[in-house]
Amino acid sequence: MDSRTTSSQSGPSMEEASTKRKVTHTLTSGYSDHVRVPNVIVMVGLPARGKTYISKKLCRYLNWAGIKTRVFNVGEYRRKEETACDAIHGANAYFFSADNEEALRVREESARRAMEDLCEYLDTSKGTVAILDATNTTKKRRKMVINFCQEKGFRCFFIESLCDDPNIINANVTDVKVNSPDYKGVMSAEQAKDDFMKRIENYAKQYEPLDMDKECHLSFIKVINAGRSFYVNRVNGHAQSRVIYYLMNIHLLPRVIYFTRHGESGYNRMARMGGDSPLTSDGDAYAEALELFFKEERVQDLRVWCSQKIRAVQTAKGLKGVAAHVEYWKALDELDAGICEGLTYEDIENRYPKQTEDRRRDKYHYRFPAGESYEDVVARLEPVMMELERQVYLSLSLSLHISSNLLQGNVLVVSHQAVLRCILAYFTDRALDELPYIDVPLHTLIKLVPRAYSCHLIFYTYDATRGIWSAREGTLNLCQSPQPSTPTNTP
Ligand code: ATP
Repeated sequence: MDSRTTSSQSGPSMEEASTKRKVTHTLTSGYSDHVRVPNVIVMVGLPARGKTYISKKLCRYLNWAGIKTRVFNVGEYRRKEETACDAIHGANAYFFSADNEEALRVREESARRAMEDLCEYLDTSKGTVAILDATNTTKKRRKMVINFCQEKGFRCFFIESLCDDPNIINANVTDVKVNSPDYKGVMSAEQAKDDFMKRIENYAKQYEPLDMDKECHLSFIKVINAGRSFYVNRVNGHAQSRVIYYLMNIHLLPRVIYFTRHGESGYNRMARMGGDSPLTSDGDAYAEALELFFKEERVQDLRVWCSQKIRAVQTAKGLKGVAAHVEYWKALDELDAGICEGLTYEDIENRYPKQTEDRRRDKYHYRFPAGESYEDVVARLEPVMMELERQVYLSLSLSLHISSNLLQGNVLVVSHQAVLRCILAYFTDRALDELPYIDVPLHTLIKLVPRAYSCHLIFYTYDATRGIWSAREGTLNLCQSPQPSTPTNTP
């Protein structure tokens, strides 16, 4: 257990501190520095094989990890092309037939436009990774993409999703595909499902999976039956190896993650940063309310992951009787404010005006002397995120329509505002410059339910004076100002 004490008023001089750790507040990212050659990630697979799901999730992860990434979805380009061409439409499976020449022209033109934009994105250094989200089911189409990448000097990596599990395909079509913009307002869900199955058949007739012999010179990963097994070939470079690491950790099953800050601590009351102070009486009341909440919620096999700071440990204490496991993670400890630990915002402004200004200019990259930056916290949270993604591995042959409360592996994270900002930014796809301003209030439990392409959030706020919870659904708010007006001990 980390029992480091902090001196509340006197810190080392700036000179001493800067020799301990170099202060950085530039806009460069530690991760993106490793990706020197732009990468094009090319999705391959029949419709309803999770290509868009994987593309969006991967994009969110790479951006969070500091590797600037964007998805180029050819279906979206196609829908724009279609508006200029009324006679043919993606809501008719015949549109995807190999002998529909007019539709083929539209589909090829859409792919061309997507590639043009992708090229502009990588060429102008706006990003380092571009994901081409399309079926790319023929060797001819893949050859065209490879030639294009070679000409431009981009590295090319294929992700092929192969799935022959009828339960998974059926769930994908019923839950996601019938709501596609191709069908919305055009036909009933039943008709849409029928049409989509025919679309899959049309693609299946032309499908040539990545050939392990004839295409063995390519870099690729085959994801088989939603991650039941993988085949990896010729991994090339940092970005590709991170992609593989990520894909091998994510899974499809629904479950819920809860997040809370510790209850109010002594330092919260005094608006001092960091430290390791115990809970106040209001903080104790929140810890008791939390225990009762989870007793009533009856989440199966709840795992509690708690930071090692006293205020978090005290908050999770009562949960030992409710949860299956309580684990204490050093990685979940609050951002280390270095020489500013134990100081108020006012103290910092008076003692270190230059530091205050540097931080105001770029809060995400600013590193406290002898402490951490938000970017450092994101890096140390990577194993936690992978564990959160890896939790729950029930057999995929189980129906995907299980109530999330009945699943194993639901997790409650008890941590601190800066850390929860980093974790929630990942799940809700917030930009890194917004991340340090995400508002995670005290005495609020956040329930996160993953959906096909996004996450649904419910906020339960505890009113200690009235002893009641109130709930709201919605999105994360941003704090108006870098220096919150309400007392806080969040760095
Ligand atoms: P289309 O070619 O029509 O765009 P797609 O392959 O992009 O289809 P998605 O829209 O991504 O398919 O399908 C979303 C569904 O795929 C989600 O319900 C998600 O649970 C599921 N899914 C995610 N990963 C996989 C996978 N590896 N294999 C099969 N299904 C998956």
